[in-house]
Amino acid sequence: MTERLGPPLGAPLFDRLALIGVGLIGSSIARAARRKNLARVIAIADAAAEARERAVALTLGDEVVADPAEAAAGADLVILCVPVGADAAVARRIAPKLKAGAIVSDVGSVKGAVIAAVGPHLPKGVDLVPAHPVAGTEQSGPDAGFATLFVNRWCILTPTEGVDPAAVAKVRAFWEALGSNVEVMNAAHHDLVLAITSHVPHLIAYNIVGTAADLEDSTRSEVIKFSAGGFRDFTRIAASDPTMWRDVFLNNKGAVLEALGRFSEDLTALQRMIRRGDGDGLHALFTRTRAIRRGIVELGQETAAPDFGRRKGEDDNGNA
Ligand code: NAP
Repeated sequence: MTERLGPPLGAPLFDRLALIGVGLIGSSIARAARRKNLARVIAIADAAAEARERAVALTLGDEVVADPAEAAAGADLVILCVPVGADAAVARRIAPKLKAGAIVSDVGSVKGAVIAAVGPHLPKGVDLVPAHPVAGTEQSGPDAGFATLFVNRWCILTPTEGVDPAAVAKVRAFWEALGSNVEVMNAAHHDLVLAITSHVPHLIAYNIVGTAADLEDSTRSEVIKFSAGGFRDFTRIAASDPTMWRDVFLNNKGAVLEALGRFSEDLTALQRMIRRGDGDGLHALFTRTRAIRRGIVELGQETAAPDFGRRKGEDDNGNA
């Protein structure tokens, strides 16, 4: 991808930025925030010793520690970049060290459950501004990140009522400086939309690849050999981080089950069309779906290249 982050800003937006979790998303934020001079100090905490070692080797932050509370102490902005199932424990741990006026944010792929898990732990005078950068890849860990991951991607903010608008404006400015287009919506709406655009597609990919994995040996080897027939693209999504995706499904149950119900009904209708030889019905559906892909390409959220944008920097699910 061509470099489109632009020149560094003047004064940093934040004095101390704390990133809890330095995997794909946390390390991408660290790289981009450093390049754009968005914080005077970047403090990183990660539970994994290996991730901390890589963060030091890659000079992703000014401080790299194991304890989230140590990184969050005195920070102006703390961003939780851990799997959503770990957010409650991290919030509980950092709460006593948060300074008055601090902003706590996150990058979780689910918003309602994160607000419920984090909000109750935060002291008065600290604002929670949840965020979801709709950008990612199937890779994990500090080495997988890159500074341009968020460029021209959406970042959705889901602040609750009563949150200081100045805090929301600062988080918006932060994501815009990382290159994102920012949209604000309520958490329940986010979770429903993302269930359709991201969570159920991942479930379908996990399922079809799981079905192939369970085939008898000879058939399975042929599936892999002839994978370019469509299967290969599902395997890319199904290679996504197991912990992250387990937590997404456990924390967005309602919306995922609702979207899955509709999906099952439509699948049954398709089955009927095939059984009855309804070629017109199949053709009409495939024509409508083709138009959706064109729309995504026209909005700049995907390339029309037949390699499905797999080049570094464009290797993007775009919907995690
Ligand atoms: P990742 O690459 O797996 O990194 C997560 C890091 O957090 C790991 O180093 C992990 O260590 C560490 N961690 C786990 N629990 C922790 C705790 N309690 N305290 C401190 N560190 C902890 O994950 P990621 O892809 O960056 O995802 C992070 C968040 O971003 C998730 O909430 C996900 O929903 C969201 N997100 C992901 C994508 C995507 O495409 N990947 C896109 C948008 C949003 P261990 O390895 O030891 O567990």
